[in-house]
Amino acid sequence: MGVSLKNVKKSFGAVDVIHDVSIEIPKGDFAVFVGPSGCGKSTLLRMIAGLEETSGGRIEIDGKDVTDEEPADRGVAMVFQNYALYPHLTVYDNMAFSLRLAKAKKEEIREKVAEAARILQLTEHLAKRPAKLSGGQRQRVAIGRAIVRQPSVFLFDEPLSNLDAELRVQMRLELARLHRQIGATMIYVTHDQVEAMTLADDIFVLKDGWVQQAGSPLKLYDDPDNRFVGGFIGSPA
Ligand code: ADP
Ligand code: MG
Repeated sequence: MGVSLKNVKKSFGAVDVIHDVSIEIPKGDFAVFVGPSGCGKSTLLRMIAGLEETSGGRIEIDGKDVTDEEPADRGVAMVFQNYALYPHLTVYDNMAFSLRLAKAKKEEIREKVAEAARILQLTEHLAKRPAKLSGGQRQRVAIGRAIVRQPSVFLFDEPLSNLDAELRVQMRLELARLHRQIGATMIYVTHDQVEAMTLADDIFVLKDGWVQQAGSPLKLYDDPDNRFVGGFIGSPA
């Protein structure tokens, strides 16, 4: 159960971007993929989401082979770096959007949006458009759009990198709280070591399309397998 990658590979044309990645993420885990820009974090996440085809290997979610499944059938929801909110829709309608697409009943939509708004402290803001919100609130709406779908796996691609330092710290705490509260499996991509160390149950350090080491933050900090991991985890962001 959880998310399992077996010998997953990706090439764009002749360029191998993900070489051979096998990882196991237990159900309910907060997993972080960390590594420098260009190491393949987003590509790996997009393959799990089904937004990018694999060039080899197998992806399982909660015990089911989803390698060839459509994104909508994988039980995952992705939160992007640039929010991707609809500017002309209210907070409510932004969060209701995917449920309406899936032809959910009105009452069900109302309940799920209300619940997400409660968790994310957006209840007061449901009638506003994104332009009227702060950066942190917009990011919460983006997360709310994932929550309403009740995915078994949340995928985050550097969701905090556009926020200022103070807000980043606050949102980090909120994400940790969210994880405790809903207990879903979360896979979080960042190039920021501090984010990785503070959020993760398990960290996967990537470099050039290979996983260099996997383990708890403490394990990687105390006992890095190689100089890259030691330098990357040990050095300040
Ligand atoms: P990260 O998210 O770690 O910064 P990416 O997964 O975005 O890294 O990219 C990994 C490598 O794959 C980079 O060298 C990038 O240029 C390349 N890449 C990503 N997407 C494509 C694509 N659609 N076509 C060609 N190359 C790509
Ligand atoms: Mg990326």
